[in-house]
Amino acid sequence: MVQSALRRLTVLGATGSIGQSTLDVVARHPDRFEIFALSAQRQDDKLLAQCLQFLPRYAVMGDPAAASRLESALRAAGSRTEVLCGEHALEQVSAAGEVDMVMAAIVGAAGLRPTLAAARAGKKVLLANKEALVLSGALFMEAVARNGATLLPIDSEHNAIFQALPADYTRRPSDAGVRRVLLTASGGPFRVAPLDSLAAVTPEQACAHPNWVMGRKISVDSATMMNKGLEVIEAHWLFGAPAQMIEVVVHPQSVIHSMVEYADGSVIAQLGNPDMRTPIAHAMAWPERIEAGVKPLDLFAIARLEFERPDLERFPCLRLAFEALQAGGAAPAVLNAANEEAVAAFLARRIGFLDIPAVIGETLERSGALAVDSVEAVFAADAAAREWARDQIRLRQAT
Ligand code: NAD
Ligand code: MG
Repeated sequence: MVQSALRRLTVLGATGSIGQSTLDVVARHPDRFEIFALSAQRQDDKLLAQCLQFLPRYAVMGDPAAASRLESALRAAGSRTEVLCGEHALEQVSAAGEVDMVMAAIVGAAGLRPTLAAARAGKKVLLANKEALVLSGALFMEAVARNGATLLPIDSEHNAIFQALPADYTRRPSDAGVRRVLLTASGGPFRVAPLDSLAAVTPEQACAHPNWVMGRKISVDSATMMNKGLEVIEAHWLFGAPAQMIEVVVHPQSVIHSMVEYADGSVIAQLGNPDMRTPIAHAMAWPERIEAGVKPLDLFAIARLEFERPDLERFPCLRLAFEALQAGGAAPAVLNAANEEAVAAFLARRIGFLDIPAVIGETLERSGALAVDSVEAVFAADAAAREWARDQIRLRQAT
């Protein structure tokens, strides 16, 4: 294999679950990757340790107090890393001329602007922040195309689909003979829990995913299956597949990460252990392959793979996401904003687990048909939806 030149990488959300797995892969290949910038919202201790290990040119913190603590600690350690603060700095380190690749691993709508900045600067964008595509799929894909950016999905399902599609795929399923995209889902921790036990579920139970270790927000999304709903919307934009071409398949073992079905009846699947370092390493080295520290798949130990239809009564969030995709316009952005607010309120023990879909459903009903033709309009819809969702959360807290 031909050894490529050293690639400079900005990691947005470096202290999170995806950020840390990314740095684990980087550390395995110091001859291939060099860190240009790292970012985190509040965890200055973690970011400090990462800066001392990876020696980035810049460290960006969201929280000003955390930024000044990081600044003092770096100076005391004799580091030359420069500390920046705020959203504009995130856009700067994503679009900087020296950067080859940006790992977009901030959680939630907060990741949209810096990820979009990387796309507009024509970078290789490694997209974990699915919320960016859910909020502004059309605008985002247009920015990628217009500026010659390379978009590589990190979400394990989308990375699997990307691997199962032809190399020259151009977002037109019928041109490539694609009949269906089969998006696998583990079903989360409550796949078989008694329905009447769900009202009393705690944040700890919701975050205890059977197969994946992830951040708290996406863990709750997996428990409600909103994560799969967001991924259906993500798949729609990434692969140009209409909603009716995307089928969700519950597969509790999480070994098949997704599949593509072709017109001739072939179904191509990507398999592997549930470890995000596989899609991360795949996207970072693409089109080459590199070692990722992931254990080889032991098919004999797994022995059997199971498949089920998703239960939309148990998982109303999945139905709401399909409805939002069909409705189009600002509906997916409203869905996402209401979900972020509801999940935060659930994690803060202000509302119950079953209030999450209820808050999102009410918010979607109130939003009507907002249009989104600019990033400003996306954020206006996002802000309005958050207000409506907070009203719903207050109402539910009071009862
Ligand atoms: P996480 O909560 O572990 O980490 C989030 C990161 O974003 C942290 O570094 C945090 O400091 C930063 N951050 C949080 N709020 C911010 C804000 N307002 N502004 C700037 N930075 C902020 O989350 P995660 O599990 O690593 O997920 C990151 C993204 O990747 C999410 O969009 C998630 O849906 C997606 N994703 C994660 C996984 C996984 O296995 N964890 C799998 C697929 C997709
Ligand atoms: Mg996923």
